[in-house]
Amino acid sequence: MKLNKRQESILEIVNNYGPITGERIAEMLSLTRATLRPDLAILTMSGLLDARPRVGYFHSGKSRYRVVAEKLNSVLVDSVKSVPIVVNEKSFVYDAVVTMFIEDVGTLFVVKEGGLLEGVLSRKDLLKTTLGGHDIHNLPVKVVMTRMPNVVHTTPEETVWLAAKKIIEHEVDALPVVRKAPLADGSEGLEVIGRLSKTNITRLFVELGEGY
Ligand code: ADP
Repeated sequence: MKLNKRQESILEIVNNYGPITGERIAEMLSLTRATLRPDLAILTMSGLLDARPRVGYFHSGKSRYRVVAEKLNSVLVDSVKSVPIVVNEKSFVYDAVVTMFIEDVGTLFVVKEGGLLEGVLSRKDLLKTTLGGHDIHNLPVKVVMTRMPNVVHTTPEETVWLAAKKIIEHEVDALPVVRKAPLADGSEGLEVIGRLSKTNITRLFVELGEGY
């Protein structure tokens, strides 16, 4: 977290003299209490300082990085996910290429009836097949996709941080967001309800940087 010079000075004063009142901090910086108000608000809202009536400001005991980590661990996949772009398991590679262009995404999820996850298609999966000289009008996506159970997925309740870790560890661009769906035979399938891509994570990163 980037603090301005005045906020740095306030932190230093509170570290050395806290608990300390806002008036006293203002005096030490030769500023008015009103001038300091926005800086004090930022420091308390970010969790770096705590304030108690009649006591004043004191250090919360959290480091700056701890505050960022806490924030990241509080954002759930559900709040940043996008709509999933899917193709049916019976479609052909040609259909998938067209869908990828029309929908402007880099990852497609292959589903069967009920929106149940069957596989994933990436740009390179399709490019490789096209370059391979196959008849893509007649080649089923099932032949070229990465299939279950090898598809790495996430859930709406998972933290974005954990999902981002999966993306990095498995070197993929996106994860399907799924929820468990009971099947007629008593087993469970995974219904695709969203998409979490590197773009979602980058957007969150930018928003956090803007201080939302
Ligand atoms: P690109 O092909 O554009 O590099 P990815 O890095 O996402 O995109 O894909 C690399 C490989 O990993 C592809 O073969 C793709 O099918 C597979 N893949 C993509 N996403 C997943 C996922 N969530 N789980 C498992 N495999 C995946």
